[in-house]
Amino acid sequence: MSETDVAIVGAGPVGLFAVFECGMLKMRCHVFDALDMPGGQCTALYPEKPIYDVPGYPKIEALALVERLAEQAAPFHPVYHLGAPVTGLARVDGGFRLTTAAGISVAARAVIVAAGVGAFGPNRPPLAGIEQYEGKSVFYLVKQREAFRGKRVVIAGGGDSAVDWTLSLADVAAKLYVVHRRPKFRAAPESVTRMDALAKSGKIEMVVPYQLGRLEGDGGNLAAVVVADLDGGERRIEADVLLPFFGLAMNLGPIAHWGLNLDHNHIVVAPETGATSAPGIFAIGDIARYPGKLKLILCGFSEAAMAAHAIYPLVHPGEALHFEYSTTKGVPHA
Ligand SMILES: Cc1cc2nc3c(=O)[nH]c(=O)nc-3n(C[C@H](O)[C@H](O)[C@H](O)COP(=O)(O)OP(=O)(O)OC[C@H]3O[C@@H](n4cnc5c(N)ncnc54)[C@H](O)[C@@H]3O)c2cc1C
Repeated sequence: MSETDVAIVGAGPVGLFAVFECGMLKMRCHVFDALDMPGGQCTALYPEKPIYDVPGYPKIEALALVERLAEQAAPFHPVYHLGAPVTGLARVDGGFRLTTAAGISVAARAVIVAAGVGAFGPNRPPLAGIEQYEGKSVFYLVKQREAFRGKRVVIAGGGDSAVDWTLSLADVAAKLYVVHRRPKFRAAPESVTRMDALAKSGKIEMVVPYQLGRLEGDGGNLAAVVVADLDGGERRIEADVLLPFFGLAMNLGPIAHWGLNLDHNHIVVAPETGATSAPGIFAIGDIARYPGKLKLILCGFSEAAMAAHAIYPLVHPGEALHFEYSTTKGVPHA
C-alpha cells in the first residue's frame, strides 16, 4: 500500500490545481480518476471549445488549459492513478485508506474530493439498438470537429451543448439538422440568435418540434434518423452521424456511501475551507455545495487554495503555516 499526504479523488481542472496548491504547502498528492485521462469535463466533453473566463487567459481551449494545469502541478510530482475509480474510502489510524476497483490501495492523511458531477456519463436517448452505433456513428461528445467534415449530421437536444456544437459544426458538416422537441432552446441567447441566423440562411435545418424516434442502418453505420412529432407523424432524415446532447447523468457512485452530508448529489461543505461533515475529508469544485456556489473553474481554483491551507495542520501538525505568495516562495526547479 502506498502512502501520501493528500489523496485527491478526481483529476478534473480543480483536482489538478489542488495538486499545485498542496505542493506549495509541502504536501504530496496521489490523484485518482475514473477516466483514463486527466481533465474531467474539459477533456471528456469539450476539449476543443474555447473557455473565456479563466483569469489571465482571454481565450483558452479546454484541453490546452488542462495541459497547463498538469504542467503547473508537475514540479510537485503527483502520482496519478488514471482509469481508476475510487470505490472505497475507510478511516484508518492517522488518516484514510482509499481503494480502487482494480485493487490499488493508498493511505492518506487527508482526502480532497474533486469529483465534479461524479462518475459522469451522457444521458442516452432511449432508442432501440443504439449501442451498436455508439462510437461509430452516434457520439455523445465531439473530440475533433474535423471528424465530421463532409458528413450529414443530426444534432439532438436543446441546451448549450446542442447549440454550441451546431454553431461549430455548421461549417464542416455537409448537412446539419437540429432536432429539438420544443421551439425554445435553453442556451445562451446570443448563441441561439446565431443559430437562428444559420437556419435562415439555409446553412442548417431546424427540425422542431420533433423528437428522436428510431435509427436505421447496418453494422453500426447509420443510414437515417427517424424523428416523430408530438402527434406521432414521422420524418426520415438521411444521416451519417447522430450527436445526442441530452446532458450529463450525474452519478455520485461510491461517494454517496462515504458518510458525507449530501444535498442533491453534491457534498455540503464549509465555504471557507471545503471541509465536509467528515473531519479530514474536503470537497472542492463542481461537487461542493455551499450558499452562493458557482460551478465555474475559477471558483474551484480558489476552493483548492483554501482547502490546502485547511489541510496543512493535519499533515504538518504543530508546524505554523505562514501565508506566503508564490512570488516569494517560488516553485521547485523554477
Ligand atoms: C460544455 C461545457 C462547457 C463549459 N464551459 C465552461 C466555461 O466556459 N467556464 C467554466 O468555468 N466552466 C465551464 N464548464 C464547467 C466546468 O467544466 C466545470 O466547472 C469543471 O470541469 C469542474 O471541474 P472539477 O474538477 O470540479 O470536476 P470535473 O471536471 O467534473 O472532474 C471531476 C473528475 O472526477 C472523476 N471522478 C468522479 N468520481 C470519481 C471516483 N469515484 N473515482 C475517481 N474519479 C472520479 C471524474 O471522472 C472526473 O474526471 C463547462 C462545462 C461544460 C459541460
